Amino acid sequence: MKKTAFLLLFTFLITSEGFSQKVNKEDSLTIRRIYDMALLDGKSYDWLDDLSNQIGSRLSGSIGAERAVEFTKEELEKLGLDKVWLQPILVPKWTRGIAEYAFIETAPGITSIQDICALGGSVSTPVVGLKAEVIEVQGIEDLKNYGRERINGKIVFYNRPMQANLINTFSAYGGCVDQRYTGAMEAAKYGAVGVVVRSMNLRRDDLPHTGSMTYGDTPVHLRIPACAISTNGAFYLSSALHLKPDLKFYFKQNCRVFPDVRSYNVIGEITGSVFPDKYIIVGGHLDSWDLGDGSHDDGAGCVQSMEVLRLLKKINYKPRHSIRVVLFMNEENGLRGGKEYAKQAKRKQEEHIFALESDAGGFTPRGFSFDTDEANFAQVKSWEPLFEPYLRLYFTRGGGGADIGPLKDNKVVLAGLRPDTQRYFDYHHASNDTFDAVNKRELELGGAAMASLIYLFDKYGVITSFQNTKK
Ligand SMILES: [Zn+2]
Repeated sequence: MKKTAFLLLFTFLITSEGFSQKVNKEDSLTIRRIYDMALLDGKSYDWLDDLSNQIGSRLSGSIGAERAVEFTKEELEKLGLDKVWLQPILVPKWTRGIAEYAFIETAPGITSIQDICALGGSVSTPVVGLKAEVIEVQGIEDLKNYGRERINGKIVFYNRPMQANLINTFSAYGGCVDQRYTGAMEAAKYGAVGVVVRSMNLRRDDLPHTGSMTYGDTPVHLRIPACAISTNGAFYLSSALHLKPDLKFYFKQNCRVFPDVRSYNVIGEITGSVFPDKYIIVGGHLDSWDLGDGSHDDGAGCVQSMEVLRLLKKINYKPRHSIRVVLFMNEENGLRGGKEYAKQAKRKQEEHIFALESDAGGFTPRGFSFDTDEANFAQVKSWEPLFEPYLRLYFTRGGGGADIGPLKDNKVVLAGLRPDTQRYFDYHHASNDTFDAVNKRELELGGAAMASLIYLFDKYGVITSFQNTKK
């Protein structure tokens, strides 16, 4: 090595060492200020209170969803952002109708009432309800073990439970949600007349959990009604079937589908001071299921995302990139909001460098998952020590979230907040997903973690565009 080259390298090492120490100290202090602001003077919990208790459930196409659009737009306007606007979309409108009713009949006149709810998107039963014998199966693949001759004319009861020994409950959910999503479509192929699905819940209780389902391209006249039964109800029905295999199940629901209606994604932006045409977004979905108030799913993610922009403004941080909060409409039964946002971003050639979603409940943050390449993941990992004082957040590889998924290309880094998952499915899509189920500090810690990550991405950029954007 030549002497000059050695000196250059030496100078570089000294400089970069000094640079990184200075940067880390500055980063630590900024993150401390973000957490202080979130925990001492946070706004997310008050917003969630209004969203849950003043507005309530926000199923796409409902009055609640419309009011939530107005409310969040007004609140974002109060923050003094550079821009706040509504992005129009058409959303499906499905309604549950009057409360469902179900019972198990073990002998004529001997019945026990069960707690059920229609699955989102299900057709109604006949006006007088539907009564038939039941065949219990352990998932879709189990249907073929019974065959058409045993299933024809019966109600199929999907009773595969969530696998309790999986530590991440989302994995357990992923392992049996196909029963809910395509169970009716598959059972109809064997001549079933209806479907009852065990609720996606690890706890034993009396609450049925709804969620989306599809009929695929099944012709309308062959679509069969589908409902969820509570976990206690599933246990009871299964036990009763062992004693009396020819018992009958009755259920009545009167859901309807209406033509699509106009709705909106709600968007707010702080325009970047250095790269106004490069975007970082943070968001959750504003719609919810109709049984509870959607406080965890995904009111929490919405108010945390709004809080990110508020916190950055409150600490007087001037972002280099444009930072947007996006409250997506219609994640639960259509994903129209996420798709439209990505479509418009592409049409306007807006370069998105980082997208963060919070849609896993308002519980204690444990970390973030990243959908990105090696180089960007290595950069993210180098930030992990900054989060040691804040519950030692872990940074892992994994998906970002449903709403930001359509943005995926080879440039944007996608990420999802990963809160503790153990209690999430106690509430998910059920009537107890209400404000009281969310803890103020846990919610605020999540918002602070998200704001801190957004700050780091804004400051350091992403690897692919960093070389071009560094000034
Ligand atoms: Zn959700």
